[in-house]
This record gives sequence, structure tokens and C-alpha cells, in this order.
Amino acid sequence: MDLGLKGKSIMVAAASRGLGYGIARQVAKAGARVSIAAPTEPRIHESAQRLREESGAEVISCAFDARDEASIRQWRDTTVAQFGGIDGLVVNAGGPPAGIFDDFDDGAWQGAFELTLLSSVRMVRSVLPSMRERGGGAIVTVTSSSVKEPIDMLLLSNVMRSGVTSLAKSLSHQLAPEGIRVNNLVPGAINTDRLKGLMQTQSERTGASFEEISQARAATVPMGRFGEPDEFGKAGAFLLSDAAAYITGETLVVDGGAMKTVW
Ligand code: NAD
Repeated sequence: MDLGLKGKSIMVAAASRGLGYGIARQVAKAGARVSIAAPTEPRIHESAQRLREESGAEVISCAFDARDEASIRQWRDTTVAQFGGIDGLVVNAGGPPAGIFDDFDDGAWQGAFELTLLSSVRMVRSVLPSMRERGGGAIVTVTSSSVKEPIDMLLLSNVMRSGVTSLAKSLSHQLAPEGIRVNNLVPGAINTDRLKGLMQTQSERTGASFEEISQARAATVPMGRFGEPDEFGKAGAFLLSDAAAYITGETLVVDGGAMKTVW
């Protein structure tokens, strides 16, 4: 199936590794021009070079922090200057710290709001003028299975990502008449540094070994294994593409069947 991504200009946030890189790789392989961003130099530029080598695509990279509006605007401006406009955006950032209610003061709540929810608002705001000028576009927010089934140790993520999901749904209604689709992409347990870090924390808290934690977690997935970033990336590429032209306001779960919710 031709996804219709050839020549499209796609921005992917938090894409030096992990889920963002997985999506960037798939859209690049489908022929899109890709603009990736993440906080750490030179890593983001090295990731861009790897993407070019893997896909032959035109790739640009910017250092940015999802909590800093000026750096989001700068990334947007660089992309528009080099690619002439924006057709797609993946809203993504690092996850807020793990913990339960008693672990967090106002500063922690404010930090999670800025990293996860306010950053989503700002990224969407920054690309809308270009998408409107082009007469359409596709936005994908990356959240978590916690938006359907809250995870005990990830309170900040549970609360802020529910806000992002609601933002995506609300925007999908407002922007559909303008040809801009907004969908939410939910990772279950995908094999990235973030997942490994969370399992390492759990290992330290419980005294169980990393391998024991990892095996027990994988056993909760009906498919019996964690997902790979490329498997997640293919779902992202689909939602960004014309193949999903009549899909908006949806939440697509990529979790090997782990969630038990019917909706
Ligand atoms: P990862 O640790 O592999 O990669 C995180 C990426 O985010 C990196 O590119 C990093 O540079 C970037 N980043 C970190 N802080 C940032 C900031 N302030 N501004 C912009 N970019 C920033 O993590 P991942 O697994 O790719 O996770 C991506 C998102 O998906 C995270 O929010 C994570 O919590 C969430 N998530 C992941 C899983 C999973 O199984 N991997 C499951 C549920 C939710």
C-alpha cells in the first residue's frame, strides 16, 4: 500500500531515540522529508545522520526542549524554511518521573504539566499556521496506555496524558473542517530506554532482578513480548498518512493485546 507520504514534510518531536525515532524512521522510509528534534546535541544530529543512511530521505535536526516555547518555534521556523511548510507533526517528549501521590509537591506537578501537556499545546499551536496555509495536515500525539488504564506508579503521566488525549479529541472536532486530522497513538510496553529505565527503578524498589521484572512484565502481554519501536513507528506512519484520510479523533493502541478495556 502506498501511504502517500512521499515528499510530505513531517516533524517528529523527541526523536533522537525510542518511539519518536521509530516513527521518524518509518515515515522517512515511506519517502517523507523528516525534521526531528530532541534536547541533546550532538545526539539528535547523529540520529539524523543515521536516519539519512537508513532511508536515503532528506532529514533535518534541531536541538529543542519541549518545555521551552522559543525552541519549539525555532524548530518550526527551521523546518518551514528548509521544507517550505509542514504536513505532519508528532507530539512527543520524555516522560515525567515515576511515583505515587505522596512523592510530588507543586513543583513536580508544574514540571509535569509543562513537559507533557503545555508542550503539546505549544507544538500544535506552532504548526497550525503552516498546515492551514497548505489546506490540511495530520497531527499525532504520543501518550500511554495510562490514558485508558491508569498505572499505579506513574501518577503524573496518568493525569497529564489524559489531558493530552482530551486535547487531541477536542482539536479533532475543531480542525476537521480545515482538513487537519488529530489522532492519539498509545504505546503499551515498547522496548526503549524509557521502558528499561522504569523496569530498573522497579528492580531497585522491590529487590527483584531486572531480568525477573522484565520477564514478569512481558508475561502480562498476550503476545508474550515487548513491542519494537519500528512496530510502533509503522502505526504512527499510517496515522500521519493519506491511508488514514478518514480517521480523526481516534486513539490507536499498540500494545500486543495487553489492555483489557473494550473501548
Ligand atoms: P526514550 O527515553 O527512549 O526517548 C525519549 C526521547 O525524548 C529522547 O529522544 C529524548 O531526547 C527526548 N526527550 C527527553 N526529554 C525531552 C524534553 N524535555 N523535550 C523534548 N524531548 C525530550 O523514551 P520513549 O520510550 O521513546 O518514550 C517516549 C514517550 O512515550 C515518553 O513520554 C514515554 O513516557 C512515553 N511512553 C513510552 C512507553 C514505552 O513503552 N516505551 C510506554 C508508554 C509511554
